[in-house]
Amino acid sequence: MTAFSPAILPELIRAASQAIEAHAEEVSALDRALGDGDHVINLKRGLQALLAQGEKLANAPDLSAALKSIGTTLMTTVGGASGSLYGTLFIALGKALEGASLELDTFAQAFSQAVEAVKQRGKTKVGEKTLVDTLQPAADALAATAQSSASPAEVVERVKAAAVAGMESTRDLLATKGRASYLGERARGIVDAGARTAQLLICAIADALLNTPSAAPECKPERPTSA
Ligand code: ADP
Ligand code: MG
Repeated sequence: MTAFSPAILPELIRAASQAIEAHAEEVSALDRALGDGDHVINLKRGLQALLAQGEKLANAPDLSAALKSIGTTLMTTVGGASGSLYGTLFIALGKALEGASLELDTFAQAFSQAVEAVKQRGKTKVGEKTLVDTLQPAADALAATAQSSASPAEVVERVKAAAVAGMESTRDLLATKGRASYLGERARGIVDAGARTAQLLICAIADALLNTPSAAPECKPERPTSA
Protein backbone atom coordinates (compact mmCIF):
# COMPACT_ATOMS: atom_id res chain seq x y z
CA MET A 1 0.00 0.00 0.00
CA THR A 2 1.60 3.21 -1.08
CA ALA A 3 -0.98 5.06 1.02
CA PHE A 4 1.41 5.13 4.01
CA SER A 5 2.66 8.69 3.66
CA PRO A 6 1.94 11.64 6.00
CA ALA A 7 0.13 13.37 3.13
CA ILE A 8 -2.88 11.12 3.66
CA LEU A 9 -3.21 11.91 7.39
CA PRO A 10 -5.60 14.92 7.14
CA GLU A 11 -8.04 12.77 5.17
CA LEU A 12 -7.80 9.94 7.70
CA ILE A 13 -8.31 12.35 10.59
CA ARG A 14 -11.40 13.78 8.88
CA ALA A 15 -12.79 10.29 8.38
CA ALA A 16 -12.09 9.41 12.03
CA SER A 17 -13.77 12.61 13.20
CA GLN A 18 -16.85 12.03 11.09
CA ALA A 19 -17.21 8.48 12.41
CA ILE A 20 -17.10 9.64 16.03
CA GLU A 21 -19.52 12.52 15.30
CA ALA A 22 -21.94 10.17 13.56
CA HIS A 23 -22.03 7.83 16.57
CA ALA A 24 -21.61 10.41 19.33
CA GLU A 25 -24.98 9.82 20.97
CA GLU A 26 -24.71 6.06 20.91
CA VAL A 27 -21.18 6.06 22.39
CA SER A 28 -22.03 8.67 25.01
CA ALA A 29 -24.91 6.47 26.15
CA LEU A 30 -22.49 3.55 26.52
CA ASP A 31 -20.05 5.62 28.59
CA ARG A 32 -22.90 6.99 30.70
CA ALA A 33 -24.00 3.43 31.42
CA LEU A 34 -20.53 2.06 32.21
CA GLY A 35 -18.46 5.16 33.01
CA ASP A 36 -18.94 8.89 33.45
CA GLY A 37 -20.26 9.78 29.99
CA ASP A 38 -17.36 11.92 28.79
CA HIS A 39 -15.64 9.56 26.35
CA VAL A 40 -16.91 11.23 23.16
CA ILE A 41 -16.20 14.72 24.53
CA ASN A 42 -12.66 13.58 25.35
CA LEU A 43 -12.07 12.07 21.92
CA LYS A 44 -13.59 15.02 20.09
CA ARG A 45 -11.19 17.37 21.88
CA GLY A 46 -8.29 15.31 20.55
CA LEU A 47 -9.69 15.01 17.04
CA GLN A 48 -10.38 18.74 16.91
CA ALA A 49 -6.74 19.42 17.81
CA LEU A 50 -5.59 16.97 15.12
CA LEU A 51 -7.88 18.53 12.49
CA ALA A 52 -6.25 21.90 13.24
CA GLN A 53 -2.79 20.33 12.77
CA GLY A 54 -3.66 18.70 9.44
CA GLU A 55 -1.24 20.63 7.27
CA LYS A 56 1.62 20.34 9.76
CA LEU A 57 1.09 16.58 9.96
CA ALA A 58 0.86 16.19 6.19
CA ASN A 59 4.22 17.95 5.87
CA ALA A 60 5.98 15.98 8.61
CA PRO A 61 9.38 14.58 7.56
CA ASP A 62 8.03 11.03 7.64
CA LEU A 63 5.15 8.90 8.91
CA SER A 64 7.00 8.00 12.09
CA ALA A 65 7.41 11.66 13.09
CA ALA A 66 3.79 12.43 12.20
CA LEU A 67 2.45 9.52 14.27
CA LYS A 68 4.54 10.52 17.29
CA SER A 69 3.21 14.05 16.97
CA ILE A 70 -0.37 12.72 16.79
CA GLY A 71 0.27 10.67 19.93
CA THR A 72 1.65 13.63 21.85
CA THR A 73 -1.36 15.74 20.85
CA LEU A 74 -3.80 13.02 21.92
CA MET A 75 -1.93 12.54 25.19
CA THR A 76 -2.20 16.24 26.06
CA THR A 77 -5.71 17.00 24.76
CA VAL A 78 -7.96 13.95 25.18
CA GLY A 79 -7.66 13.43 28.93
CA GLY A 80 -9.41 10.60 30.76
CA ALA A 81 -8.10 7.07 30.68
CA SER A 82 -8.45 6.95 26.90
CA GLY A 83 -6.14 9.97 26.38
CA SER A 84 -3.06 8.30 27.77
CA LEU A 85 -3.95 5.03 26.02
CA TYR A 86 -4.54 6.47 22.54
CA GLY A 87 -1.52 8.74 23.08
CA THR A 88 0.58 5.69 23.91
CA LEU A 89 -0.77 3.82 20.87
CA PHE A 90 0.33 6.48 18.39
CA ILE A 91 3.63 7.37 20.07
CA ALA A 92 4.57 3.67 20.20
CA LEU A 93 3.48 3.20 16.59
CA GLY A 94 5.62 6.15 15.52
CA LYS A 95 8.61 4.84 17.48
CA ALA A 96 8.24 1.36 16.03
CA LEU A 97 8.28 2.85 12.52
CA GLU A 98 11.45 4.92 13.02
CA GLY A 99 13.60 4.34 9.94
CA ALA A 100 11.29 1.54 8.81
CA SER A 101 10.27 0.82 5.25
CA LEU A 102 6.60 1.50 4.71
CA GLU A 103 5.42 -1.93 3.77
CA LEU A 104 2.29 -3.55 5.10
CA ASP A 105 4.24 -6.21 6.94
CA THR A 106 6.37 -3.64 8.76
CA PHE A 107 3.31 -1.57 9.62
CA ALA A 108 1.51 -4.67 10.95
CA GLN A 109 4.44 -5.49 13.25
CA ALA A 110 4.61 -1.89 14.44
CA PHE A 111 0.87 -1.86 15.14
CA SER A 112 1.17 -5.04 17.22
CA GLN A 113 4.00 -3.46 19.22
CA ALA A 114 1.88 -0.34 19.76
CA VAL A 115 -1.01 -2.44 21.10
CA GLU A 116 1.46 -4.13 23.49
CA ALA A 117 2.46 -0.68 24.72
CA VAL A 118 -1.21 0.20 25.33
CA LYS A 119 -1.68 -3.00 27.33
CA GLN A 120 1.35 -2.19 29.45
CA ARG A 121 0.23 1.38 30.01
CA GLY A 122 -3.30 0.33 30.99
CA LYS A 123 -2.12 -2.80 32.81
CA THR A 124 -4.76 -4.53 30.71
CA LYS A 125 -5.08 -7.73 28.77
CA VAL A 126 -7.76 -9.00 26.38
CA GLY A 127 -11.04 -9.86 28.11
CA GLU A 128 -11.23 -6.93 30.54
CA LYS A 129 -13.91 -5.01 28.61
CA THR A 130 -11.74 -2.20 27.25
CA LEU A 131 -10.54 -0.81 23.94
CA VAL A 132 -7.82 -3.48 24.03
CA ASP A 133 -10.54 -6.03 23.16
CA THR A 134 -10.91 -4.27 19.80
CA LEU A 135 -7.27 -3.32 19.19
CA GLN A 136 -5.73 -6.75 19.84
CA PRO A 137 -7.83 -8.80 17.40
CA ALA A 138 -7.47 -6.04 14.80
CA ALA A 139 -3.68 -6.12 15.22
CA ASP A 140 -3.67 -9.92 15.04
CA ALA A 141 -5.78 -9.91 11.87
CA LEU A 142 -3.50 -7.31 10.30
CA ALA A 143 -0.39 -9.32 11.18
CA ALA A 144 -1.91 -12.52 9.79
CA THR A 145 -3.15 -11.02 6.52
CA ALA A 146 0.01 -8.97 5.99
CA GLN A 147 1.88 -12.29 5.79
CA SER A 148 -0.60 -13.69 3.27
CA SER A 149 -1.17 -12.82 -0.36
CA ALA A 150 -4.39 -10.98 0.50
CA SER A 151 -5.25 -7.90 -1.56
CA PRO A 152 -5.47 -4.51 0.22
CA ALA A 153 -9.28 -4.77 0.08
CA GLU A 154 -9.17 -8.20 1.73
CA VAL A 155 -6.76 -6.98 4.43
CA VAL A 156 -9.10 -4.11 5.24
CA GLU A 157 -12.17 -6.34 5.34
CA ARG A 158 -10.52 -8.85 7.67
CA VAL A 159 -9.16 -6.18 10.02
CA LYS A 160 -12.57 -4.51 10.15
CA ALA A 161 -14.32 -7.81 10.83
CA ALA A 162 -11.86 -8.65 13.62
CA ALA A 163 -12.42 -5.23 15.20
CA VAL A 164 -16.21 -5.69 15.07
CA ALA A 165 -15.94 -9.15 16.66
CA GLY A 166 -13.65 -7.77 19.36
CA MET A 167 -15.98 -4.86 20.05
CA GLU A 168 -18.96 -7.24 20.24
CA SER A 169 -17.03 -9.49 22.65
CA THR A 170 -17.06 -6.75 25.30
CA ARG A 171 -20.87 -6.87 25.55
CA ASP A 172 -21.02 -9.88 27.83
CA LEU A 173 -17.79 -9.29 29.71
CA LEU A 174 -17.41 -8.07 33.27
CA ALA A 175 -15.13 -5.03 33.53
CA THR A 176 -12.02 -5.28 35.67
CA LYS A 177 -10.32 -2.05 34.53
CA GLY A 178 -11.43 1.58 34.48
CA ARG A 179 -14.62 3.07 35.92
CA ALA A 180 -16.81 0.21 34.67
CA SER A 181 -15.04 -2.14 37.10
CA TYR A 182 -17.15 -0.68 39.93
CA LEU A 183 -20.36 -1.94 38.30
CA GLY A 184 -19.82 -5.69 38.65
CA GLU A 185 -22.61 -7.70 37.01
CA ARG A 186 -24.42 -4.53 35.92
CA ALA A 187 -21.77 -4.06 33.22
CA ARG A 188 -23.02 -7.11 31.34
CA GLY A 189 -25.16 -6.52 28.24
CA ILE A 190 -23.48 -3.24 27.30
CA VAL A 191 -20.59 -2.80 24.87
CA ASP A 192 -17.59 -0.89 26.25
CA ALA A 193 -17.48 2.69 24.93
CA GLY A 194 -13.74 2.59 24.24
CA ALA A 195 -14.01 -0.75 22.43
CA ARG A 196 -16.75 0.78 20.25
CA THR A 197 -14.81 3.96 19.43
CA ALA A 198 -11.65 1.96 18.68
CA GLN A 199 -13.72 -0.13 16.24
CA LEU A 200 -15.31 2.96 14.68
CA LEU A 201 -11.88 4.56 14.24
CA ILE A 202 -10.38 1.43 12.69
CA CYS A 203 -13.36 1.09 10.34
CA ALA A 204 -13.28 4.73 9.25
CA ILE A 205 -9.51 4.82 8.75
CA ALA A 206 -9.49 1.49 6.89
CA ASP A 207 -12.29 2.64 4.57
CA ALA A 208 -10.57 5.98 3.99
CA LEU A 209 -7.35 4.15 3.05
CA LEU A 210 -9.29 2.29 0.40
CA ASN A 211 -11.27 5.38 -0.58
CA THR A 212 -14.58 3.73 0.19
CA PRO A 213 -17.36 5.65 1.98
CA SER A 214 -16.69 5.63 5.71
CA ALA A 215 -20.25 4.91 6.86
CA ALA A 216 -20.00 1.44 5.33
CA PRO A 217 -22.50 -1.05 6.79
CA GLU A 218 -19.69 -2.99 8.54
CA CYS A 219 -19.08 -0.01 10.78
CA LYS A 220 -22.51 -0.55 12.27
CA PRO A 221 -22.99 -3.16 14.96
CA GLU A 222 -25.22 -6.12 14.10
CA ARG A 223 -27.45 -5.25 17.01
CA PRO A 224 -27.66 -2.21 19.28
CA THR A 225 -24.52 -1.83 21.43
CA SER A 226 -26.62 -1.36 24.55
CA ALA A 227 -29.19 -3.94 25.65
P1 ADP B 1 -12.41 7.89 31.72
O1 ADP B 1 -12.75 6.46 31.99
O2 ADP B 1 -11.20 8.34 32.50
O3 ADP B 1 -13.60 8.79 31.86
P2 ADP B 1 -12.79 7.86 28.84
O4 ADP B 1 -14.24 7.95 29.14
O5 ADP B 1 -12.26 8.82 27.84
O6 ADP B 1 -11.93 7.98 30.18
O7 ADP B 1 -12.43 6.41 28.31
C1 ADP B 1 -13.03 5.27 28.83
C2 ADP B 1 -12.53 4.06 28.07
O8 ADP B 1 -11.13 3.87 28.31
C3 ADP B 1 -13.19 2.77 28.53
O9 ADP B 1 -14.39 2.58 27.82
C4 ADP B 1 -12.13 1.70 28.22
O10 ADP B 1 -12.27 1.20 26.90
C5 ADP B 1 -10.83 2.48 28.27
N1 ADP B 1 -10.05 2.15 29.47
C6 ADP B 1 -10.20 2.61 30.72
N2 ADP B 1 -9.26 2.11 31.55
C7 ADP B 1 -8.49 1.29 30.78
C8 ADP B 1 -7.33 0.48 31.02
N3 ADP B 1 -6.75 0.40 32.23
N4 ADP B 1 -6.81 -0.21 29.98
C9 ADP B 1 -7.37 -0.13 28.73
N5 ADP B 1 -8.44 0.62 28.45
C10 ADP B 1 -9.00 1.31 29.45
MG1 MG C 1 -15.41 8.46 30.71
